[in-house]
Amino acid sequence: MRDIPAVPDHDIELSGGALALDFANTVGGTHVQPTHDHLRSYADIVRFTELADGLDGPTAKRLARRAEQDPRRAAAVYELGIALREAIWGVFSAIASGEAPRDADLALIGDAAAAGRARERLVYDRSGVGWSLPADGDALERPLWEIASSAADVLTSAELDRVKECASDTCEWVFLDRSRNRSRRWCDMSDCGNRAKARRFQAKTRAARV
Ligand SMILES: [Zn+2]
Repeated sequence: MRDIPAVPDHDIELSGGALALDFANTVGGTHVQPTHDHLRSYADIVRFTELADGLDGPTAKRLARRAEQDPRRAAAVYELGIALREAIWGVFSAIASGEAPRDADLALIGDAAAAGRARERLVYDRSGVGWSLPADGDALERPLWEIASSAADVLTSAELDRVKECASDTCEWVFLDRSRNRSRRWCDMSDCGNRAKARRFQAKTRAARV
């Protein structure tokens, strides 16, 4: 087991630009040496996915209830969720540095995305016809299907070359750089960006003193 502090210094942040990237960023610090982990149970995965707009409120409530009724299954889906998170981070981190992602990571994402898509139905509402997972088809894996599907969407989109990893040495968050001149370097300017600025300032003042 990794030794990770239970209480993070901040709540879940949504700065990745896509559900799957925000999911990868639910761990703080580096993946080898995390400073905190926002996902400590199946309920945390549901809470994250609702917060990131991957599930509506009523669905999140139903899933949380089902997890309470079947804690063993929920624990197994939680483990799968953590494996999916590592696969997503592995794939996007590799792509951000111009390397080929691992086949096993792509397979895990693809399987979860395909499992969700196989259950989708064509439904009509006022805005038109679209694909949707039926409410009666709720399975505990549903948040993972939504997240994997988001990962597959980014991976197969024209935005893939906008995927970057935070420039900080102590942060491995991944994000979509949607700035016009593709100049975004930090997961969050007010967080990693400011820390880097403060370090540069300290280095400069140290250099000025000698
Ligand atoms: Zn960062």
